[in-house]
Amino acid sequence: MFDAIVIGLGGMGSAAAFHLSRRGKKVLGVERFSSGHELGSSHGRSRIIRQAYFEGEEYVPLLMRSYELWDELARESGENLMETTGALMLGSPNSDIVSGSRRSAERHGLPHEMLDAAEIRSRCPALEPRPDTVGLFEERAGFLRPEATIEAHLDLAAKHGADLRFEEPVRSWSASENSVAVETAFGVYEAEKLVVAAGAWSSDMLADMGLPLRVERRVMHWFEPKRIASPVPRPPVFLWAPEGGDVFYAIPDSPNAMKAAFHYVGDECEPDALDREVGEDEVSKIRDYLERYAPSLAGRHVESAACMYTNTPDSHFVVSPHPAHPNVSVAAGFSGHGYKFCSVVGEILADLATDGGTRHPIGIFDPARFEGAS
Ligand SMILES: Cc1cc2nc3c(=O)[nH]c(=O)nc-3n(C[C@H](O)[C@H](O)[C@H](O)COP(=O)(O)OP(=O)(O)OC[C@H]3O[C@@H](n4cnc5c(N)ncnc54)[C@H](O)[C@@H]3O)c2cc1C
Repeated sequence: MFDAIVIGLGGMGSAAAFHLSRRGKKVLGVERFSSGHELGSSHGRSRIIRQAYFEGEEYVPLLMRSYELWDELARESGENLMETTGALMLGSPNSDIVSGSRRSAERHGLPHEMLDAAEIRSRCPALEPRPDTVGLFEERAGFLRPEATIEAHLDLAAKHGADLRFEEPVRSWSASENSVAVETAFGVYEAEKLVVAAGAWSSDMLADMGLPLRVERRVMHWFEPKRIASPVPRPPVFLWAPEGGDVFYAIPDSPNAMKAAFHYVGDECEPDALDREVGEDEVSKIRDYLERYAPSLAGRHVESAACMYTNTPDSHFVVSPHPAHPNVSVAAGFSGHGYKFCSVVGEILADLATDGGTRHPIGIFDPARFEGAS
């Protein structure tokens, strides 16, 4: 009998397994694919991390804790998990991205600078903003290395005694008042508590909750800079809401290439039938954006990869006890902006499994908000 079983050892589940085992709990982690696989939502070399949060100022206290825990993980693992490049949120002053980031920064006293188009050009000569574009620059922002952070969480969980099993799909689980049972392809395991962190497969693993989740295909691309006579320095991470265009971002995550992708454009998909082939039209569309807004970055296309967002209708996460089973905790619907929170979500899931509650503000993640929604 285990103290806790964690279903799914991706971004959130690996963090939960780490926090639970560090507290001395006897943990079983079960993952359907290999360790560090590329079939879910946590691959692709980089994930943006920032604190001036346009998605909601309620997230800022969680981000503060998240940063502390990422630093702690880097120290304990001895690995380089995060690059602090700074980040620019770009758009018109009234765009959600700029105005929301500014609101969060001002409300929480976060260090930031507001730049006009001329300042953006002189600080980041690679960027070509329109005269009415402004930018919020946050120095502490940057990107996490998702594969390395998952590996660090899993290695340390194993050092703390967690039993981690890969290539072992969970078929079903059940809960009674005092225990849970998890049936996998290879056996049935029992524990006092269960954590479900199944990413894009959450609707299968949490069918009884009827969560309104929509899984979408997203594509990431890497481009070398153009070979030009006077190369310009690489910009920091940026997220851009161009007037009348699609929101896109870029991350300097590779020595000779930058990653670029759209943030809100994706087709619904079945996670087991995700189309991993990336079409020429998809590469051309993002290249056109780079040509227009950051032309020196639109050099040779190096590679592309498909991934999945699991969206909720309001883009806020689901992190809570299961409504029918207090001994089961769920983490789902991270809606394309969850990675930076893995460290703190792991702590929250460990709190819920060990204490039945958490000091962290998770009210906005309560699935009860969807009740009655069609
Ligand atoms: C292209 C892209 C860019 C993104 N950019 C950012 C960003 O810049 N910043 C940011 O903060 N966030 C970003 N995100 C979002 C972030 O990456 C996700 O929110 C996060 O990775 C979700 O983690 P997860 O643990 O829910 O899912 P995963 O990491 O996919 O983990 C779920 C795990 O559950 C396992 N599983 C499922 N079913 C079973 C089963 N039956 N049995 C056993 N195991 C099972 C899966 O195999 C998987 O390993 C991005 C996402 C994508 C796709």
